[in-house]
Amino acid sequence: MGISSENGEVLVARNYIGGAFRDAQSTFEKHSPVDGRVVALVHEADAADVNDAVLAARAACDGDWGSMSQRERTALLGKVAGLIEARFDDFVEAELADTGRPRAAAREFDVPRTADTFRLFAGLAGSYPGQTWQTEAPGISAVNYQLRRPAGVVAAIAPWNMPMVLLAFKIAPALAVGNGVVAKPSEEAPSTASIMAEVFDEAGLPAGAFNLVNGFGIDSAGAFLTAHPGVNRISFTGETRTGAHVMRSASERVRPVSLELGGKNPAIVFEDADLAAAIAGTARSAFYNCGQVCLCTERVYVHRSRYEEFVTGLKAAAENLVIGAPDDPGVQMGPLISRKHRERVLSYLEIARQDGNIVTGGGVPQFADARDNGAFVQPTIVTDIPESSRFVTEEVFGPVCHVAPFDTEEEAVALATASEYGLVSVVWSGNTSRALRVAGRMRSGVVWVNGWLIRDLRTPFGGVGLSGIGKEGGYASLDFYTDQTNVCVKL
Ligand code: NAD
Repeated sequence: MGISSENGEVLVARNYIGGAFRDAQSTFEKHSPVDGRVVALVHEADAADVNDAVLAARAACDGDWGSMSQRERTALLGKVAGLIEARFDDFVEAELADTGRPRAAAREFDVPRTADTFRLFAGLAGSYPGQTWQTEAPGISAVNYQLRRPAGVVAAIAPWNMPMVLLAFKIAPALAVGNGVVAKPSEEAPSTASIMAEVFDEAGLPAGAFNLVNGFGIDSAGAFLTAHPGVNRISFTGETRTGAHVMRSASERVRPVSLELGGKNPAIVFEDADLAAAIAGTARSAFYNCGQVCLCTERVYVHRSRYEEFVTGLKAAAENLVIGAPDDPGVQMGPLISRKHRERVLSYLEIARQDGNIVTGGGVPQFADARDNGAFVQPTIVTDIPESSRFVTEEVFGPVCHVAPFDTEEEAVALATASEYGLVSVVWSGNTSRALRVAGRMRSGVVWVNGWLIRDLRTPFGGVGLSGIGKEGGYASLDFYTDQTNVCVKL
């Protein structure tokens, strides 16, 4: 799997095309966000590699894989889930090397969730309901039924923030209904996808059913893949600007896209909320994974009567967070993904400093050891900042939020829905009628009431506005990855 270096294991991430691992002429290094050491050597796929991967996926979809009985395909994906569990430690180490998140997060969430995702979609594909309609009109009697077949070649392009689970969320349903898949993980988090290719190889999927191409976006594997005329569906998760680029590329041949993009997610805390729960929940929703989850809360609106109490409580929660490397004692928050991303987050903290008041955080923690070569940043809370500030209107994607008071329910709804993004919202209230009334007025794909990050993979997920197009999750994923035909039989 890897090569050893003076500073530990370096994973070699090769491309996997048509059932074989393939070296590339060009390679690049992936650096640890914890201490800057090299953790992976990545083989960058060129246009010819991407072309071969698309053709291999097409052949698998038209051949053994697409025509395999659902029962067999479901069984093979169940085997994949078992092999992911069998290589649990390899996946954990690779995820920690790429992202630097606390070990417990990878052990308790990322790896088990990935295995579950394969089992879930393998099962759903086996029970994917079809529809029939009976048509009766004077002189006409007919029966209609719905046929579904694999869409063909699916391009699955993932970001770096939750590399394993987000890639699995695309490839598991796409494979489960018989598509050939070409996966392109983020250049910032290539390692788990590489082990995933080994798992597919070991599970014995027909050659070409799963292909992996590594690289960047523009002038690299990402853009080569989305521009390839042989791709029939593009499922993309990443930044809104990149999503717009992908959509332009897809429009050339009128290909359906599913775009899971950025967010600037609000939380509303009403005066009747359980404040301790709202503070603990908001600390989690703002700082979990160092704020690098598209579902993280970056805007918090609190009823004026509880505002001071809330800010004091959230400040204490932020200052009590243990920041550090994956195995540091009691660690709760790791680094940002890279120094480059930290520069971006720090530039937003500078805007916050100029436009508002930094209650806590605002800088880089000092460790006086190798972690100072990493990409750590302090959890940051901002108040007294105009809603027009770029810190409030743009996605920062770090452990940050601003908190502002409101006086009426109407005002809270107006503030929360003022963003052009619309991914998720959180409503904290002890009054069920109010919570549900306000939930119905949020302009987002998901609304959580008195909680956060409860994601049932069977539910349709996807944002509105700048947060994306399309729904994935449960049968919505299977709908996206299939073509549907209405067969009408005149009786
Ligand atoms: P990104 O847009 O920079 O990159 C995402 C992926 O697209 C990477 O694999 C990258 O190599 C590739 N890519 C870049 N340019 C491309 C191009 N022109 N053509 C094809 N592929 C290209 O995003 P990121 O920085 O990796 O991830 C962070 C972003 O993802 C944040 O905005 C976050 O909100 C968003 N995100 C959204 C969701 C969601 O479900 N809505 C989930 C996670 C992350």
